Amino acid sequence: MSPIKEREHRKRVEIYNKTGGRCYFCGRELEINPLYPTDNEMTIDHLIPRSKGGSNKYANKVPACKYCNNLKSNRMITDKLSYKIFISYAYEETLVF
Ligand SMILES: [Zn+2]
Repeated sequence: MSPIKEREHRKRVEIYNKTGGRCYFCGRELEINPLYPTDNEMTIDHLIPRSKGGSNKYANKVPACKYCNNLKSNRMITDKLSYKIFISYAYEETLVF
């Protein structure tokens, strides 16, 4: 691994560890670096979207599955109520979890 890739990887591991390797939103177990793309592949979500002024720092990043990351898109989910609404959508739309 090149030094840049190694630093990137370390950052991913730190974010992954924030939730013990689970999606911040739906709780499914994530794979940090799958050899092939999978549904459980970890993506990094910005709690406050970059487009709404959210920072690119560690505190604003959480691990998320591809599904939740897409679903959340650039919505703001910073308080409990919007989080609950989001989660109920997430579960409704994927009964196969
Ligand atoms: Zn998820």
